[in-house]
Amino acid sequence: LSDRLTSTFKNLRTRGRLSEADIDATVREIRRALLDADVAVPVVREFTGAVRERALSSEVSGALNPAQQVVKIVNEELVDILGGATRPLTLAKTPPTVIMLAGLQGAGKTTLAGKLAHALKGQGHTPVLVAADLQRPNAVTQLSVVAERAGVPVFAPHPGNTSEADDPAADAPLIGDPVGVARDGVAYARDRQHDVVIVDTAGRLGIDEVLMQQASDIRAAVNPDEVLFVIDAMIGQDAVNTAKAFADGVDFTGVVLSKLDGDARGGAALSVAKVTGRPIMFASTGEKLTDFEVFHPDRMASRILDMGDVLTLIEQAEKAFDADEAEKMAAKVASGQDFTLADFLVQMQQLKNMGSMKKMLGMLPGMAQMRDQLDQFDEREVGRIEAIIHSMTPTERDNPKIINGSRRARIAKGSGTTTTAINQLLERFESAQKMMRQMAKGGGIGPNGMPAM
Ligand code: GDP
Ligand code: MG
Repeated sequence: LSDRLTSTFKNLRTRGRLSEADIDATVREIRRALLDADVAVPVVREFTGAVRERALSSEVSGALNPAQQVVKIVNEELVDILGGATRPLTLAKTPPTVIMLAGLQGAGKTTLAGKLAHALKGQGHTPVLVAADLQRPNAVTQLSVVAERAGVPVFAPHPGNTSEADDPAADAPLIGDPVGVARDGVAYARDRQHDVVIVDTAGRLGIDEVLMQQASDIRAAVNPDEVLFVIDAMIGQDAVNTAKAFADGVDFTGVVLSKLDGDARGGAALSVAKVTGRPIMFASTGEKLTDFEVFHPDRMASRILDMGDVLTLIEQAEKAFDADEAEKMAAKVASGQDFTLADFLVQMQQLKNMGSMKKMLGMLPGMAQMRDQLDQFDEREVGRIEAIIHSMTPTERDNPKIINGSRRARIAKGSGTTTTAINQLLERFESAQKMMRQMAKGGGIGPNGMPAM
């Protein structure tokens, strides 16, 4: 996915304006890329339609170059489908908060129960796990192990005893029905003043009426504040059917994507979010208790695009460039007026405003070239450049050619730098000036007055 999109965007990046044909070509690539990432077909269709419409609208203008704007639209649309902002857990006004887990067998529910308990405990909650999966002989034992690791009690059914932290022998006959266990578990939590109850339930390898009925009955019995649908991110195109079946059969309030540590391309996330309209709340990223994080729609969007934190980057760029200054500069260049050291300084300062941009660029696979360019713009270096330019006389600034050896020495002294630093600055300025002249000739200047990067 990433390579193809990166090259699509690269093509866009080198152009000054976007034609409808450009946009259609891009949309086609995005469509292909999303299908490759196993995003469901109807979701892809709707998504690309929305991107195309926005890209064709006048929105593609302003302080950024049009290509960046298209990247931004793609990202925004992805984030929008993925649920916009991160949604926190809903806690009950009157404890205990009941969280029920549902999903296919092997999706990662039991593992998640431990992770969630661990995280909640770390926030000062007193969770208890309830073993309402009585389908597999080992399920209760597995949950007990998970609970012990997380350092939280487990409510599990076994003969004559439903007290906490008792590890039922794996071969003991399990008694009670899952619905009863779930109900008792919540009552138990209320009695012992546990403020969160996490109910683990059974899954099947495929969607199954009996399973769905059981999950639905458990839901009715414990009236959960959250029903989290756990889905393996590697599930691919099946994501849509599975999610729909659980949405219809049990209904859920949020989604947890598991096994995101694998090489899942994230298509499932987009499909599930779009088809069910439920927010993705957490991501499971491994087998350890701590391999668990709050789901960030924006990061997932980037993962799907595999372009790192493009959105953040673009937002920073938007903030950093002073539109007025940029316009003045563009007008100046367009009018054929020469680019001076003072203009150069303004550019440098704008780059400095971009702050951690370089660090972010390091995360972007397709942006090595841009990073190299920015590598020259170390923040401290901008400080030095400022000092040097400020140590020049106005005449020197307007006409740097007059800066001879003795002027150089004076400027170096005044700015606390060396004559070498001044030579380097002047060289760099000259090449920037050359670039600006070329752009003035070719008309190839971005609307922000900066050379297209
Ligand atoms: P359940 O049937 O839904 O309860 O699924 P389990 O919690 O038992 O998990 C099934 C398998 O997937 C186990 O071997 C887990 O260790 C593994 N697993 C669960 N979550 C993750 C995850 O986020 N990443 C990886 N790599 N493995 C996971
Ligand atoms: Mg399980």
